[in-house]
Amino acid sequence: MKPFVVQRGSARRRQSEKPRPRSGVRVWREFELIDLIRRTAAGRGRGDCLGIGDDASAHLPEAGFLELVTADALVEGVHWDFAWCDAYTLGRKTAAVNLSDIAAMGGMPRRAHLVLALPPIAPLVQVTDFVRGLVAELKIHGARLVGGDTNVSPGPMLVSLTLQGVVPKSEMLCRRGARPGDRLMVTGDLGSAGAGLWALQHSRRPQRLRTYPVRRWRRPIPRLAEGRFLARSGRVHALMDLSDGLAGDLRRLCAASGVGARVQAGQLPLAPSTRRSAAARKRLPWLLALQGGEDYELLFAASPADVPVLANGLRRLGTPCTCVGEVLPAARGLSLVLPSGEIVPLPPGWEHNQTEGA
Ligand code: ADP
Ligand code: MG
Repeated sequence: MKPFVVQRGSARRRQSEKPRPRSGVRVWREFELIDLIRRTAAGRGRGDCLGIGDDASAHLPEAGFLELVTADALVEGVHWDFAWCDAYTLGRKTAAVNLSDIAAMGGMPRRAHLVLALPPIAPLVQVTDFVRGLVAELKIHGARLVGGDTNVSPGPMLVSLTLQGVVPKSEMLCRRGARPGDRLMVTGDLGSAGAGLWALQHSRRPQRLRTYPVRRWRRPIPRLAEGRFLARSGRVHALMDLSDGLAGDLRRLCAASGVGARVQAGQLPLAPSTRRSAAARKRLPWLLALQGGEDYELLFAASPADVPVLANGLRRLGTPCTCVGEVLPAARGLSLVLPSGEIVPLPPGWEHNQTEGA
């Protein structure tokens, strides 16, 4: 997931000013919080023997399925600021970005473990709202919270979710497998979440923003049904989700597959509000689509002959998809066809440890 750098960082503020909770605000205590989490997460899941309350969770393996395990950590002041999304929404987002990784393998999510590192003064209601959002999002997609760990952080809040899922042995889709001649397809639109993040960072009243790009940043929708459809179809050669922007993520897919690719800038799917955001910032709209992160859309490679069937199936799920380019032999490298027809090297994606986001 693509982090950002907070200018008015809450983490820094916390360290330098040593804030105290407002009077009347209850701060969390470990056993009370774990008990609340256990009650929020309650409910039986398929094949689960033990959930929260013992030294480890336990579940029955599912015959004929591969186990998928993915983890994502989010750090306050790096990935979010409570001025930009409330705790419940952050909980949903934390689950959604992990669920997206299961979708990207063609899998079905099952159960999650949550690690919390909380500042000692974090209000109890903020933490429980976060857990409520997380559990709600997991539930929508058929997964449960079955364990985790709770700790104190001397700095910012950190949340880390480990999500386990399954995929039928013969259906798993990976980043490797794309072949020269394949079409490169993406679901939904690109660059809008990045535009939303920019709007939040540059607004005086970010809490009030309700635009489409901001909604896309706050509430990513994991493409689980789409991932399952693509995996079941048997027609997809490679699949991944887009968390760091198409330019960077396509590089990873091509490296894993040992291929090159050519992207058509003029075909990148852009929402009208993303175009407006680009115009306001004097940025090229297709650059936002290539470098804006946190889209959580799916990128897949398939033979041209299979594309209409796949596109129709996705449309029936309510999700548009767009051809954004084609796979080439490795020797052809990675290139971008500009709207003018000029061919240039594919611009770099966003790099971790960079100080400025898209
Ligand atoms: P231990 O000390 O043996 O690791 P803990 O006292 O830390 O156990 O945790 C007690 C139970 O609560 C365990 O089942 C653990 O998985 C669960 N748990 C602790 N923190 C969380 C959390 N943040 N989210 C979900 N479950 C948690
Ligand atoms: Mg123990």
